Amino acid sequence: MEELVKLIDENFEYARHEIGTDEIKIYVKSSREEIECPFCGEKSTKVHSVYARRFQDLPIGGKKVEIEIANKKYFCRNADCSNTTFAETFDCLPYNARRSKRLTAEIIRVSTEVSSLRASWLLRKSVANIGKSTICELLKKRKPDN
Ligand SMILES: [Zn+2]
Repeated sequence: MEELVKLIDENFEYARHEIGTDEIKIYVKSSREEIECPFCGEKSTKVHSVYARRFQDLPIGGKKVEIEIANKKYFCRNADCSNTTFAETFDCLPYNARRSKRLTAEIIRVSTEVSSLRASWLLRKSVANIGKSTICELLKKRKPDN
């Protein structure tokens, strides 16, 4: 599991997991202890709080995967910075997203082959809980680097 979570994001550290009937829930934390403030670039080690951030990732063994990150929020101690706190972010996950980049890429791949209604049905069976309208939005927003 430790190696598996590193494949999702190199900064993830495995904590525990639960296997349900059709879903696997994996709990991870960050292996970083010092983060650069995204607003001013100053490094911080002072944790403000930790909150649970959940997102869907690619399935494992036919089961849908939900990841829960113990996401840290840091203090920025640069007096000139516009923000006093900031949350740690991860490369595998766009800002505010509830799906990993690679899951979104897979959804787009499936959805370009079939109708969005059919894609939603296929994906819900074993990949991710996603509706027809979300698929349409993803296809519209699609950029060449996706
Ligand atoms: Zn800052």
